[in-house]
Amino acid sequence: MAGVPKPIVGLKVEYTKLFINNEYVDSVSGKTFPTIDPSNEQKLADIQEADKEDVEKAVAAAKMAFKRNSAWRRMDTTQRGALLFKLADLMERDRTILATLETMDTGKPFLQAYYEDLEGTIGHCRFFAGLADKINGDTIPLDGSDLFCYTRREPVGIVGAISPWNFPIHLAICKIAPAVAAGCVVILKPAEQTPLTAVYLGHLIKEAGFPAGVVGILPGYGPTAGAALVNHKDVNKITFTGSTEVGQLILQGAATSNLKRVTLELGGKSPNIIFPDADLDYAVRKSHDAVMYNMGQVCCAGSRTYVHEAIYDEFLKKSVELASKKSVGDPFNASNENGPQIDGEQMQKILELIESGKREGAKLLCGGERIGDKGFFIRPTVFADVKNSMRIAKEEIFGPVQSILKFKTLDEVVELANDTHYGLAAAVFTKDINTAISVSNSLEAGTVWVNCYNEFKAQAPFGGYKMSGQGREFGINGLDQFLETKTVFVKL
Ligand code: NAD
Repeated sequence: MAGVPKPIVGLKVEYTKLFINNEYVDSVSGKTFPTIDPSNEQKLADIQEADKEDVEKAVAAAKMAFKRNSAWRRMDTTQRGALLFKLADLMERDRTILATLETMDTGKPFLQAYYEDLEGTIGHCRFFAGLADKINGDTIPLDGSDLFCYTRREPVGIVGAISPWNFPIHLAICKIAPAVAAGCVVILKPAEQTPLTAVYLGHLIKEAGFPAGVVGILPGYGPTAGAALVNHKDVNKITFTGSTEVGQLILQGAATSNLKRVTLELGGKSPNIIFPDADLDYAVRKSHDAVMYNMGQVCCAGSRTYVHEAIYDEFLKKSVELASKKSVGDPFNASNENGPQIDGEQMQKILELIESGKREGAKLLCGGERIGDKGFFIRPTVFADVKNSMRIAKEEIFGPVQSILKFKTLDEVVELANDTHYGLAAAVFTKDINTAISVSNSLEAGTVWVNCYNEFKAQAPFGGYKMSGQGREFGINGLDQFLETKTVFVKL
């Protein structure tokens, strides 16, 4: 019987270079940057640092791979899907290595990386593999004319994919898999904080049998390598996950370079609304997980918990009990539910926001401080009596901080929930179907969860309203983002 998966103790970082044309190569400048273990602040490896010249090389390789009549362009679409199925199998084979690297680089609990992140990653790869040969155009009936008209769905071309550090391998595959399934070629720039799993992917891509140049991987910094992709005239599309501020820069770059297509998955400040008829213990647990999962470093974290006044005091008491007994520490120790924040900068930002909450009059019920002085650990924090006007209710904290707000009526809470420029996700806890549907319909958010939280499926579209993004990832909608529609008229 298979036991609980175990990390690889003392795993050495083997892959540290750029991946261009199916080969690992040094950067043109030879420069490197360190990647750090956030649980102990030790350096894990020096990674080759891509810059503008390396982007040029990767784009040239991508252009060759995407050339008319290239092996990639002529490849049967079922075969294209088979390569992605093979890549998924290879990630399954190397799942323990990938999960170990992910935990070393991000500090997330190993079992979470192994079960949840890798499950999602491999599942996404298989979902898009299955769509590769199901991309159909239409025939357009033009009765009474001597024209035959049809549409073709064609790959958008060279894709630049820019990803963040909170779910590195999962978000890399969420971009590579649909791009490749659509027949595009893709250059991934992973976040500088967490390059290890993305760089590891390179040799799996080669082993799966992808032709050279179809997938490139360029670890490096945003304002250099990332911006070079965004501003490149031969890159046809950027798919980006990250902060709203950088998303705005990307739209500007896309507009002024070549009007490249852009998909943006950005930040959030998701409301989570608890009505008095909800199952209280269940709602408390789900609301806690909604904001504490992955150390709060989730774009759709339920970071504003709105609780009806009739259950408010009880809800606070139970939330504090949960937060106070949460075990935080070494992410390789299976008894720890949370690890560290990603880096010192994020930790300081979170601590500063906690201070602002205290200053602005929110009631700190537990946590609110760093744990120890090595590693970027923060004690799970609960604030009560938070108001919409406070910074902790307005800004994305991206940390283990639950802000609890009180409400009286349905109309009031809908207004409070929508009072934000974000619109990524929201949740409602109630046993009343009318309340559930009415509130879900009124919330300005790309995803609404009813009596659940953080449910994601490769089949179901995901993305933001308002300043949380543009376009959708996942599902058929996710594939559409990598396709152009060509209309062909044939004179009969
Ligand atoms: P970030 O925007 O700072 O960085 C994201 C990526 O963009 C990194 O790879 C970075 O190197 C790159 N980048 C930075 N500046 C750039 C520039 N000028 N040009 C091109 N690329 C640039 O975000 P982060 O701190 O890594 O991630 C946290 C943010 O990501 C949060 O706001 C979070 O909500 C968001 N996020 C959103 C989703 C979603 O699906 N909506 C998922 C995860 C994270």
